[in-house]
Amino acid sequence: MQIVRCVSCEGYGWFEEDGQTGDCDWCGGVGYVYRDERSVDHKIPAADYGAVADTLEKLEIQRLRDMGYTGQAKKPWDQAIRRKS
Ligand SMILES: [Zn+2]
Repeated sequence: MQIVRCVSCEGYGWFEEDGQTGDCDWCGGVGYVYRDERSVDHKIPAADYGAVADTLEKLEIQRLRDMGYTGQAKKPWDQAIRRKS
């Protein structure tokens, strides 16, 4: 099953409405959902979080890049290590 960005909250996992914030009902606050072969989205069950953690992290990095935010993807400590060697 494919994992896609939640269409309801755009990957944020939460909503801000009338000055109040709450978890997105569509994805359960994860920001991502399963998409089956019929293009139907399903909430990722909490029991699956461990198994999909790596995938979610990659999607999150991609999402931040899409928004033009590169601070997370480019880790300063990695750069420092590379400079030493
Ligand atoms: Zn959502």
